[in-house]
Amino acid sequence: MEDKGISKEQVYQMLREYKEKDLTHRSGRILGSMCTCPHPVGVRAYSMFLESNLGDPGLFPGTKALEDEVITILGGLLGKKDVHGHIITGGTEANLMAMRAARNMRNLDNPEIIVPKSAHFSFKKASDMLCLDLKMADLDEDYRMDTSSVEELISDNTVAIVGVAGTTELGKIDPIADLSKICMDNDIYFHVDAAFGGYTIPFLKEAGYDLPEFDFSLPGVSSMTIDPHKMGLAPIPTGGILFRKHEYLEAIAVETPYLTEDLQSTVVGTRTGAATAATWALLKHLGREGYREVATHCMEITHKLAEGVKEAGFELVTEPELNIVPFHSSEIPVKEIARRLEAKGWAVSLASYPRAIRVIVMPHLKEEHVDAFIRDLKEI
Ligand SMILES: *Cc1c(COP(=O)(O)O)cnc(C)c1O
Repeated sequence: MEDKGISKEQVYQMLREYKEKDLTHRSGRILGSMCTCPHPVGVRAYSMFLESNLGDPGLFPGTKALEDEVITILGGLLGKKDVHGHIITGGTEANLMAMRAARNMRNLDNPEIIVPKSAHFSFKKASDMLCLDLKMADLDEDYRMDTSSVEELISDNTVAIVGVAGTTELGKIDPIADLSKICMDNDIYFHVDAAFGGYTIPFLKEAGYDLPEFDFSLPGVSSMTIDPHKMGLAPIPTGGILFRKHEYLEAIAVETPYLTEDLQSTVVGTRTGAATAATWALLKHLGREGYREVATHCMEITHKLAEGVKEAGFELVTEPELNIVPFHSSEIPVKEIARRLEAKGWAVSLASYPRAIRVIVMPHLKEEHVDAFIRDLKEI
């Protein structure tokens, strides 16, 4: 660190030079990320609350009121208005909180959790940090969690079962209704990871898409993850965790001696209120209609892309259920397809099971980007 500072103009100029090296979502070149251009209304709201710390909510009662309202609105979107939760950093923290609650509700020496093989890697972190034995359930032929495999894995040590509504790699929705019943029958905590699908499935259903039940309207669902910084268009880092019962939050609360609240349940201490303000602003500004348009538009582009991929001679791994198109080829190895796409300037991402290129059709992906991508695929 230098002793003397430099002018702010110099600082900004240097920052611009670094920023130029980054990709932008706006370019339409980022095909494998669940993040997107944050909506300008969310950005404005975020910047209005930069000094707000929800880790010490007594100092920021206005922001706290916004958080309570956001949790109620998100709960209403997911089948139950009176839920309890927080706006946090993302899906990873949400899943960590849910697994911690499930573990703490029971007092077992060797707790186990059952997740589908398709689960997000955040459950590996949760398993490591919380000393949970991770049991992976098989998938069925359509890459959804296989319920008979789940039933075989259930033991006296099972503290939680996790289903995913919109898997990270393929966008599949696990049989949440069946899993809810299995969890009720066996008295097991059931967490639904809808980090990706939480902001799309309800709106697509409203628009007439035939998608399964996946939320708190199913009585076995104990908690849900929903990420405003993915299809919710909020700036990063913004995640959401919702619990059916307040006792789950209590199970992970610790005493906070020097703060304005007595107990804290989140993983992080100091926690931005800006993410809450952005989420609130977008829910109010876009409304159901706005989010319905975002979700249905992404699905239209998804179907166009899926057709184009087939026309170009590639095979879909599975028909898209949400806005993800996974494909491969019987002639060219997936790694080689990725290499050639990258050479043409596309930032692609690979699915691990099954091996495939996965294109996530986020709102920044426009029709002209898809046309250009399909032209390049045809050349490949
Ligand atoms: C993205 C995602 C996560 C992790 O969320 P982060 O915000 O990256 O921490 C967890 N689960 C699912 C299903 C996801 O798609």
